[in-house]
Amino acid sequence: MKSCAEIRPLIGAHLLGALDDDETTVLFTHLAHCQECAAKHSRLSQLMPLIDLAGSSEAPVGLGEPGTTVVGPAIGNAIFRACGARVRDLPIRPAAVKAAMKV
Ligand SMILES: [Zn+2]
Repeated sequence: MKSCAEIRPLIGAHLLGALDDDETTVLFTHLAHCQECAAKHSRLSQLMPLIDLAGSSEAPVGLGEPGTTVVGPAIGNAIFRACGARVRDLPIRPAAVKAAMKV
């Protein structure tokens, strides 16, 4: 079984949909035996609706949108904190998170 330090990055990646089936199995095998990591997974999963709210494939076009420029970096920082993946381009997609995790 992997250590908690090895599993923690997978928690955020899973919630972003960036894990394949084998990685998901490794994660949930660990969560079934580790209350601390399971609690972290639970807490992070509560943030996902906020990330969904900020997601958009539309280019910014309106005068009112400059006020939202901090949302993308804030989400990027949250993803970095959750799984160690630094993604610098928007929109932040699961494939980009997974690629950044392997750097
Ligand atoms: Zn653990």
